[in-house]
Amino acid sequence: MERTRITPSRKRRYSGEQNKRTLDRGGDDGDDDDNNSYATLGEGNTARRKSTPIGSNDENTTVPRPCEPSQPTHRIEMGGRDEEYFRSLYSTEPDFYHLGLKYPEFGAMLRDGAHLDFTDPAAVMQLTKTLLREDFGLHIQLPPDRLCPPVPNRHNYILWLKDLLDSTSSSYSQGYEPERRVTGLDIGTGASSIYPLLGCVQRPTWHFIATDVDADSLASARANVRRNRLESRIRIVDRTASDPLIPLDDLDIETIDFAMVNPPFYASDAELLDLAAQKAQPPHSACTGAPIEMVCEGGEVRFVDRMISESLVLRDRVQWYTAMLGKQSSIDVLVDTLKKHGVNNFAITTFIQGSRTRRWALGWSFLTRRPSLGASRGCGSLATKRMLPPITAITISGPATEIHTNPIPSLQKALCDAAETLDLRSWVWDEQRLYGVGFADGNVWSRAYRRRKAEEVVVKHEMAAPPRDVAACAFGFSVSIQPDHPDQPRGSPTVILRWLQGDDESLFESFSGVIRRCLRAGVTHPV
Ligand code: SAH
Repeated sequence: MERTRITPSRKRRYSGEQNKRTLDRGGDDGDDDDNNSYATLGEGNTARRKSTPIGSNDENTTVPRPCEPSQPTHRIEMGGRDEEYFRSLYSTEPDFYHLGLKYPEFGAMLRDGAHLDFTDPAAVMQLTKTLLREDFGLHIQLPPDRLCPPVPNRHNYILWLKDLLDSTSSSYSQGYEPERRVTGLDIGTGASSIYPLLGCVQRPTWHFIATDVDADSLASARANVRRNRLESRIRIVDRTASDPLIPLDDLDIETIDFAMVNPPFYASDAELLDLAAQKAQPPHSACTGAPIEMVCEGGEVRFVDRMISESLVLRDRVQWYTAMLGKQSSIDVLVDTLKKHGVNNFAITTFIQGSRTRRWALGWSFLTRRPSLGASRGCGSLATKRMLPPITAITISGPATEIHTNPIPSLQKALCDAAETLDLRSWVWDEQRLYGVGFADGNVWSRAYRRRKAEEVVVKHEMAAPPRDVAACAFGFSVSIQPDHPDQPRGSPTVILRWLQGDDESLFESFSGVIRRCLRAGVTHPV
């Protein structure tokens, strides 16, 4: 067993849960009628109401939200844009008045200098172009007869992917790793190629393969990639409707980090028209989508079902398979399918725009590295319990300051003592960050295991530590002491226990019990 105390080489900060977007608690399903809507974005510019932040991922309602320790702040300067900048985008509404002054093409679309007509396709398209230019430095052109992507919604998908990947990297760092090369697949990239463009701007080491079946969209996507000089990082690939959705073999690629898709939502033209007719109000935003973008046989469920079938063969050749969905009922069906095939490492989130539009997203993985709570249960109370993936982090409250004047050394000692008495494969504690990571080959804390161990004849050899193949360990965890947790009274520390790796939820549950007991005992007998 390796027991190392490490000193951080770089200054680290606590940023709390990665995702600070808030949640709309309206109805269950996405309730606008296309996958193209800016919903109520812009109402603030009309009524100057207190803006509803665009985005989602609220905290889990049953488990206190832990603050996972973040990694060192690497200020990746991209024209002044860094990770924090991207995370906070659209938490308040864009100021149309000032955008109009800065970009005359956009200004020309505004009425009274600040109001945009969301039912006018040309105005909506100009808004997309202007936001991409202003917020991401991107230049795009869009054909008038293809989908015009609402930027905040597409940006939310990229933010979620960052959370998923960062919290499940092979280094277990649980934070952004600027050196990590990431390859993603965007299935059905559309005329804008918006996801690859947004991903590449935010993460300089990300690369994309982007597919589509529509010749016009492919031509436009290629032009947009060229326009932004991203040809070396975004490869646009022609596909046909009967080709596999995930073309790893066709492209001779062994592994990629993620696959994403915003599939056509509707099963038929009739369904599209029916749903539009059922709406009491006209759509909030003009939709320029062509049938190929909006409709596919079996709708979004069939499309993502196809992806699941392919994933069952490709398995860990893709770390995260993900899809955006318009309906909660689709998530229900797809989660059942995943469970039926024994896939229990999955994630669900919602993307909210304004007060009306909700989109769902589902991700699944055949690797056993577990995502943060923010990434895996970003749908909070909107999802039914049956749909939710396992809990991957718990918060254990430390003693109140009136009981214990300096509880942190006692908590630290109790944690390290507990970890060091267990037969862990690896345990590393960082004293400065009050953060540790451990791995075990199985339930090494059970009574049966310890009894068996105690009966073994121990022959001690001085030898080098065995190679640490922790990637194959049945259980991995991290534990951190947070002197000031936002959900706790000031001065009361908390301990965050995070499930980092493994297939077996019950191991995390029983391990949490062990740590709780050790902490209680350790704090009762302070150092
Ligand atoms: N990603 C873009 C476009 C989404 S619309 C956005 O979010 O704005 C869905 C896209 O999927 C369309 O461009 C459509 O042409 C494409 N598509 C449909 N069937 C496909 C298939 N079998 N393989 C790849 N792309 C497909």
